[in-house]
Amino acid sequence: MEGDVVIIGAGLIGLALARELAQRGASVRVLDTGEPGHAASWAAAGMLAPSSEGLDGSFYELCSASLERYPAFAAELHAQTGLDVHLRREGFVSPAYDDAGLEFIEARAAEARARGLHARMLTTAQTLQLEPALAPVRAAVFFEHEASVDNRRLGRALRAAVECAGVRVDEGLPWVRVAATQRRVNGVETAQGFISAPVVVNAAGAWAGGIEGVPEHARVPVEPVKGQMLALAMPANLVRHTIYARHGTYLVPRDDGRLLVGATGERVGFDTRVTAAGVQRLLERALRIAPGLKDLALVETWAGLRPGTPDSLPYLGAGALEGYFLATGHLRNGVLLTPITAELVADAIEGRTPRISLAPYAPERVRAASNVAS
Ligand SMILES: Cc1cc2nc3c(=O)[nH]c(=O)nc-3n(C[C@H](O)[C@H](O)[C@H](O)COP(=O)(O)OP(=O)(O)OC[C@H]3O[C@@H](n4cnc5c(N)ncnc54)[C@H](O)[C@@H]3O)c2cc1C
Repeated sequence: MEGDVVIIGAGLIGLALARELAQRGASVRVLDTGEPGHAASWAAAGMLAPSSEGLDGSFYELCSASLERYPAFAAELHAQTGLDVHLRREGFVSPAYDDAGLEFIEARAAEARARGLHARMLTTAQTLQLEPALAPVRAAVFFEHEASVDNRRLGRALRAAVECAGVRVDEGLPWVRVAATQRRVNGVETAQGFISAPVVVNAAGAWAGGIEGVPEHARVPVEPVKGQMLALAMPANLVRHTIYARHGTYLVPRDDGRLLVGATGERVGFDTRVTAAGVQRLLERALRIAPGLKDLALVETWAGLRPGTPDSLPYLGAGALEGYFLATGHLRNGVLLTPITAELVADAIEGRTPRISLAPYAPERVRAASNVAS
């Protein structure tokens, strides 16, 4: 069996890259040891929020470019598959409850304005008019440009799109191993046989650091960062905007009537259990933000693993072997970064200069950093 490109990992990142490459005419295979779109990409909240997340520098620019791509990306997927990914563009409200919170949101608003974005400060009355379910706030900032997407729907749409484009997705594989010399990749071995390919992409999310067969010098450290979440069933429009509070607590309304509450951030290895303490923490924080949620039914709890890197930036582009590329390590922003990752990593694979430099995300920076340290 042969292909131009084999992608390891069928999360949002691997699937979007497969779609992009197939649209550019490549023959692509995607391999997953689990169920496509069902790891972090399924567990996420789907926020597309570079300002609320407090990102800066070139990483902000990367995230912002991806946010700009989203309306067209969603529309293209709809046209290709008939599936609606429920992109919601009504903006984010970031509330403050005390002096420290106020200082925090004013700084975020100032950063956004310096970038030419509209960040409106809201009084207590204006905030409660916009979102009556919130506890009385000191003030809030309204980021009109931020959006959310139903990431589970996005996973289904991307899977349908790649299959429409003729990409074969193999799931539930017992094992996958990169076939490589010390210098270059030759393909991928699986329980079903050897797939010869000049290009192999590691898009295995939180598992990307442990892909078998990758020589030591081409490995990159990736650590799972567990996030627990839950969903409440809310009356129509009880909360209409995503509410993004300090310390990473958020309420994200979905078109299907669920209100997502997230998320914890835990470095506990590959544990995906939902714990009593995790649920307690989420509910305590959510009810502090919006006490009126207390009577809503708790309809779902879950946990997923964000792919974390030592500097919290993704690995995008060529790895330390000829033909070996990485598209992983997106930590808290992989849903947001899905369209831009697909475009830029496809450019790198094709040998084109990407419109945004991938230098800050070069996998090789890991080795450069450890050489400096040693
Ligand atoms: C609770 C939570 C909330 C989040 N909220 C947001 C948010 O609001 N906005 C945002 O932008 N991001 C958010 N994220 C982050 C986002 O979910 C991730 O950055 C993104 O989904 C990573 O996508 P991925 O495709 O790289 O990884 P994954 O979706 O984890 O996919 C990796 C795939 O690789 C497969 N795999 C693993 N090992 C192997 C192997 N050996 N061989 C083959 N396949 C393998 C897995 O089965 C899986 O399908 C959140 C994450 C969590 C956990």
